[in-house]
Amino acid sequence: MTILDVDGLTVRYDVRDGPLHSVNGVSFTIDDGVNYALSGESASGKSTTAKAILGLLPDTATIESGTVEFEGRDLRALTPAERQDLLWEEIAFIPQTAIDALDPMMTVGAQIRQAVQTHRDVSDRNANRRAQELFETVGLDPVRVEDYPHQFSDGMRQRVVIAMALALDPKLIIADEPTTGLDVVVQDKIIDNILQIQEETDSSLLLITHDLSVIAETCDELSILYGGTVMEQGSVESVLLNPSNPYTMGLKSAYPSLADGDDALVSIPGKPPSPDWTPTGCAFEPRCPFASETCETTRPALEKLPYRNQRVACHHAERATRMRDEADEAST
Ligand code: ATP
Ligand code: MG
Repeated sequence: MTILDVDGLTVRYDVRDGPLHSVNGVSFTIDDGVNYALSGESASGKSTTAKAILGLLPDTATIESGTVEFEGRDLRALTPAERQDLLWEEIAFIPQTAIDALDPMMTVGAQIRQAVQTHRDVSDRNANRRAQELFETVGLDPVRVEDYPHQFSDGMRQRVVIAMALALDPKLIIADEPTTGLDVVVQDKIIDNILQIQEETDSSLLLITHDLSVIAETCDELSILYGGTVMEQGSVESVLLNPSNPYTMGLKSAYPSLADGDDALVSIPGKPPSPDWTPTGCAFEPRCPFASETCETTRPALEKLPYRNQRVACHHAERATRMRDEADEAST
């Protein structure tokens, strides 16, 4: 069953210089129990998409069009109170900066207890027990529930936020770059944590990360964003083994652990688009080695590839794929 259905989402920020379109018609669906990744370079619209789903966009943002449904319920139609309940009880959000999710004036245990008791009829004692249990789950010493946010290291604080997010057994966990800025060992532990909990609770996961190797290890399906548009989507295996959009190919070769053999580490030439620009054609056209006139004038539709669990938005997907296959063959 589909748990989250995002269709044609378009988000505009109104800033001093005019309208900025950060998300331009993004569509994807997440089924029950699936680990879904949203990836792409910085400024591709990942966090804006997550915030639009959660109803957490700032006042300067407007959802111009599109629908967001959670288990068939229209999330855009919720009242603030309904949204507040949904956010704790059914959808957990682990934001990009953990510190934003915590109140510096309260012990972390008090914050978890408060969240639990607002939504469930439990005694102080049981709420406290729940906080300690959650600490154990994320690998923190349960006695530390009586500490304040500033008493934790960055990595520990991120785990506190994960513990908090899980307090009410959500059906969907949305984690926005949950390991950014942490050292690699801690990153691995946190990702393991999220996966372990997600497996135990049988929830679905929307993991936002630019790290394709994390995706390869942890996710079932993905969408690759660029300039606020979906460039390629489908099963992680299919897309990462056989990227058919030149942008995905570029992203993949920028990742040493995923690039085949000893290919040199390549980065995609050029800069991501500035958001004050709304693409008439393909968002990647200015940087794409395959770009033609059509790419400039006509936006490519996301189309399913035959025999694959994969959809690609590229006018030249066939040619790009053929060249990729030839290059692969030549190097073996
Ligand atoms: P990162 O990987 O760096 O987190 P992202 O993919 O999450 O990037 P977003 O944060 O969604 O990207 O930003 C998409 C675009 O929207 C960027 O160009 C950004 O500058 C712009 N943007 C984001 N938040 C705001 C805001 N509050 N006001 C105006 N523009 C914004
Ligand atoms: Mg972001």
